[in-house]
This record gives sequence, structure tokens and C-alpha cells, in this order.
Amino acid sequence: MTPITPQLLPEIFDVLRQKINQHAEEATALDQAIGDGDHVINLQRGLDALCAQASEYPNLSWPEALQKIGMTVLSTLGGASGSLYGTMFLTLAKQLPSHPTVSDFATAFTAAVAAMKKRGKAEAGEKTLLDVYIPVAQTLQQAADSALPLSEILQRIVAAAQQGAAATRDMIATKGRASFLGERSKGYFDPGARTAEWLIEALVAQLNPDTHNIT
Ligand code: ADP
Ligand code: MG
Repeated sequence: MTPITPQLLPEIFDVLRQKINQHAEEATALDQAIGDGDHVINLQRGLDALCAQASEYPNLSWPEALQKIGMTVLSTLGGASGSLYGTMFLTLAKQLPSHPTVSDFATAFTAAVAAMKKRGKAEAGEKTLLDVYIPVAQTLQQAADSALPLSEILQRIVAAAQQGAAATRDMIATKGRASFLGERSKGYFDPGARTAEWLIEALVAQLNPDTHNIT
């Protein structure tokens, strides 16, 4: 099996950008309905910046690459999602050893999501992208603790992301711009949760050729 190294990062960010571009209209419509409409533009600006410097990642260790990514996300992505994604990558940079195992990724991702909750002052059930990342972190941690094969871990992660995003549709937003709408935020996926689901699907498809049929 190919080891998961920073060598994979240029291709990963390229497919993440493609996935967001592919679904741009749907996500923008959601952010126009319950936010201010800029979520996709923010993500595209961040992903473009990450892709532009991608040739540097393969020469870096995981902590160095993630530190660079986190700083770029913070300075380019913008909005509430920018500070949350910046926190995610900078926490991963702090937590990961240079040669991480799957279990190290799980521990670091759990810490990253805890830091995002703190940064957003948000919990599960508030109709945000954390409604995807909280169950994904729990699923990853449980699957890694049970020493499941990587392909099984990845499948469970995608299922958790899809369920997490779908659940935001019936939630009333209590954080972020959508919270200004109160009850009227119901009936729409949270845009940040929906894009998080797509990013995870694209990441998993890239890491696991068995799941290339995920749409
Ligand atoms: P902004 O809302 O500042 O315009 P974006 O449009 O880029 O930023 O991102 C909006 C998304 O950010 C929302 O759909 C939601 O998922 C997420 N979000 C907003 N505020 C919070 C928060 N306090 N905690 C967690 N996530 C949040
Ligand atoms: Mg917005």
C-alpha cells in the first residue's frame, strides 16, 4: 500500500478544488438562502492559494506542510469558515509527528475538531460545518482504535460526513449568519456542512481507489 505522505498533497488539493468547483452553484445557492452568499468564493480563494504553492508540500514533513497550509488558509480563505479551517490545519500541524500512523491522524484530528469547536464557540446540532467534522472525528477515532483496515475506515468516514450534512437540513441555526434567520433557517443544508461533506468525499476517493464511485 502507498504510504500517506505530503507527496500526495498537491493532487489532493487539486481534487478538492475540482469538487468544490463542480458543486459551486448548489453551495452558493445555500449560502445565498441562509448566509451571505460568499462561502464558495471563500473556499475557492483558499483552495486556489493552496494549489498555487502545492509544489512545495512534497519537500516538507507533515507538521511543516500543515503549518504552511494553515497559515495560507488563514490569510486567504476568509469568513467564519476561514478561521475554522485555519484552526484545523494549524492544530494538525502541532499534533502530528513527522511520520504519523493512522492512529496519530485520528488523535490529531480529534484535537483539531476540539479546537474548531472552541474557536467557533459551537457544539454539535447548531447547523454548522461542525455537524460534519464532529461525527467524522468520532468515527475516525473509533475506527482507528479498533484497528480497522484503511478502506473500511474511509468508508465509515464518508458515511458519517453524509449523515452529518443531511442532518443539518432540519436544524435551526444557532451559530453564524444563518442564526439571524432563526426558524427560517430550517429546510436548507448548512452550506459549510455541505461543502465539508464534499471535501471529505473527494479526499476519501483520492486516498482509496475502491471508493472512486462516490459522487
Ligand atoms: P461567513 O459566514 O463569515 O460569510 P462563510 O460563508 O465562508 O463565512 O462560511 C459559512 C459557514 O461557516 C456556515 O455555513 C457554517 O458552516 C460555518 N460557521 C459559521 N459560524 C460558525 C461558528 N460559530 N462555528 C462553526 N461554524 C460556523
Ligand atoms: Mg458567507
